[in-house]
Amino acid sequence: MNAVGIFGGTFAPIHHGHIRLALELRERLGLQQVRFVPSARPPHRAAPEVPPQRRLDWVRLALAGEPGLVVDDREIRRNGPSYTYDTLAAVRRESGAGTPLVLLLGDDAANQLHTWHRWRELFDLAHLVFVERPYEPPAPAPELAAFLRGRRAASAQALLRSPAGAWLAANVPPLAISSTRIRQLLKAGRSIRGLVPDAVIQTLTTEDVRALTHDEDPAQD
Ligand code: ATP
Repeated sequence: MNAVGIFGGTFAPIHHGHIRLALELRERLGLQQVRFVPSARPPHRAAPEVPPQRRLDWVRLALAGEPGLVVDDREIRRNGPSYTYDTLAAVRRESGAGTPLVLLLGDDAANQLHTWHRWRELFDLAHLVFVERPYEPPAPAPELAAFLRGRRAASAQALLRSPAGAWLAANVPPLAISSTRIRQLLKAGRSIRGLVPDAVIQTLTTEDVRALTHDEDPAQD
């Protein structure tokens, strides 16, 4: 069946919260692979100061040695805003009509889904799996909640019986890590060991740290 997970983000920088989420869902859902898709020009937030190619390098380093987790650079190769709709449409063309595609979203992203480009049509292309994150508000907008009603899959097995169109909430053990927190620690001159893969930390240059932290307030705690 070869179901494919798609996991987008700015990854500024990638951290162990991202990696755990992908591994947990790959195993639980029985996905053949999870594709990490760094966003070049995210439509709904300021593009990170760190160049896309650099964020892509970090994702590549972080996923080395994890055969089920794959880097996908298509949003960086594409021009214009990095719409998830376009990414899913391209993966759908490549994988064929029958392959289950599963878009993985933290619930901070999920709650904003109704503001995304062609958001209803995402369900024509893929299933969606919403993952709880610590500290994030759980309530989806009424418009989104109404659309989701009736589309919930009964189980992971049921989800993957069709190629697209349903959703599931996944209760993955939460890791209280965010890229924002990492940037705040860096700004305060503190350690990010244990939050970010060592292979990524080792490559961080002074310029990387400047780009990651230029807009951030230092961690206060
Ligand atoms: P930032 O703090 O800059 O917003 P982030 O840590 O949320 O960054 P992104 O690259 O924006 O990271 O996130 C990509 C995806 O990963 C989103 O769907 C987000 O909800 C999810 N995600 C990030 N961190 C975690 C975590 N610790 N647990 C579960 N999901 C996460």
